[in-house]
Amino acid sequence: MKTRNCQVLVIGGGPGGYPAAIRAGQLGLDVIIVDKDGLGGTCLNRGCIPSKAVIHAASKFEHMGEHASGEALGITLAEAPKLDMGKLTSWKDGIVTKLTSGVGQLLKTAGAEHISGWAKFSDAKTCVVDTGTEEIEITAEHVILATGSVEVELPFMPFSGPVIGSTEALDQTELPNKLVVVGAGYIGLELGIAMRKLGSDVTFIEAAPAILPIYDKEITRPITMWLKKHKVAVNLSCKAKGVVEDGGKTFLEYEDAKGGTQRIEADKILVAVGRKACLDGWGVETMGLDMVDGRFIKVDDQCRTGMRNVWAIGDVIGEPLLAHKATAQGEMVAELIAGHRRSFDPVSIAAVCFTEPEIVGVGLTPDEAKAKGEEIVTGKFPLAASGRYLSMEAGLDGGFVRVTARKDDHVILGIHAVGTHVSELSGEFALAIEMGARLEDIAGTIHVHPTLTEGFAESVLTALGHPIHIPAPKK
Ligand SMILES: Cc1cc2nc3c(=O)[nH]c(=O)nc-3n(C[C@H](O)[C@H](O)[C@H](O)COP(=O)(O)OP(=O)(O)OC[C@H]3O[C@@H](n4cnc5c(N)ncnc54)[C@H](O)[C@@H]3O)c2cc1C
Repeated sequence: MKTRNCQVLVIGGGPGGYPAAIRAGQLGLDVIIVDKDGLGGTCLNRGCIPSKAVIHAASKFEHMGEHASGEALGITLAEAPKLDMGKLTSWKDGIVTKLTSGVGQLLKTAGAEHISGWAKFSDAKTCVVDTGTEEIEITAEHVILATGSVEVELPFMPFSGPVIGSTEALDQTELPNKLVVVGAGYIGLELGIAMRKLGSDVTFIEAAPAILPIYDKEITRPITMWLKKHKVAVNLSCKAKGVVEDGGKTFLEYEDAKGGTQRIEADKILVAVGRKACLDGWGVETMGLDMVDGRFIKVDDQCRTGMRNVWAIGDVIGEPLLAHKATAQGEMVAELIAGHRRSFDPVSIAAVCFTEPEIVGVGLTPDEAKAKGEEIVTGKFPLAASGRYLSMEAGLDGGFVRVTARKDDHVILGIHAVGTHVSELSGEFALAIEMGARLEDIAGTIHVHPTLTEGFAESVLTALGHPIHIPAPKK
């Protein structure tokens, strides 16, 4: 067996692992990164990017349909658009290939070596990588675990035949006529809404009494309205029970809110009930690490595990399971190894649902702030009052920007928005919270006209009691 030594060994080439390896290389460390599935991890191969490509294509298809069936914007299409799902998927695959090969190039430029294969540890600093053609034993001074997460399957209806997960949902060559989505969290909703726009008949089965339960009803209302308008049935407080074949047709059987058994016909059943840390099959049990309830690797505020010089980042250490969190931790750990002083202490990590319309959340909602004993002021600006939104065929979906600030010093505690395109505001929102901005800081920043960002400035003016583009709130 070949043997290798390095200063830094990164396991997993997702948005946690590859930035860690690039940054370590930039800092002059001798680094090897191992990944079996192709660089980019879940994010580039079967998560963030492919889902956003399909969502974009679905919106385009829906808009073209609107032009064909009426005179949206005075532009009429002579024929209804036609969908070739196989070609759509190939177009999405092209984006994935471009980005994943770009990651390979970036690693090379930074001086990080990529070994393609599955790593299995025999102790905390030693693993054997099976590349398919050979086995390489690697020993490292520092190990960064970035093994990510995998989809959760329902034990009584594992992925097979008509039952698919998000990975397969993004790789379809034929659009299902009838799609049942189990789970109305962000992944289920993003994919279910895209499939509806492409023409599937979509039904949700959700065990909780609300969609996207981490957001308040005010925020999720525009999505509920969209689903209703587009005849998407959402069955809340309902539990999937299993798949039944009957008369050559497939049905999902579920328990309804009253405890009765119901069934619904489906060509495909997308199970989107969550993700769990990737902890199986790579010898984590040999490494002597502390765990959180056996579900995630336990780390401190510098992503150090219980074992000296073994670090863990990204989805494998738990919530929030987000690519940008993984990246921030990866860069930080590389810098810590190089001797920099760093810690992972964000005020808040912005989260976006690329639903229709989109949701952005940073920091505390008004209810969360009150629960923490804060006295607050809020300001809400409806996007229907924004010229930029209207000029982009947006704003009429019930969307708004809402700011929550502490009453006495006006420090902003949370910013939430719902509306088409609001994902692009997440950067300004996160910056405001991270810099400890007060309402007056945002009001004093001249926002470009006409842009989507004006909605944020107006929500702040509303909280201060003197908006320009909506009537001032009564005192
Ligand atoms: C459909 C979908 C949409 C999403 N959309 C978004 C979004 O819009 N925004 C967002 O922030 N997040 C999104 N996510 C979540 C995001 O993809 C993850 O949070 C992110 O990829 C986590 O990064 P990571 O580096 O921790 O792990 P991963 O990206 O999961 O990468 C881990 C890698 O390690 C490899 N690996 C594991 N064990 C070994 C081993 N022993 N040897 C070799 N290789 C190994 C895996 O094969 C994988 O390639 C989405 C996820 C899904 C499924």
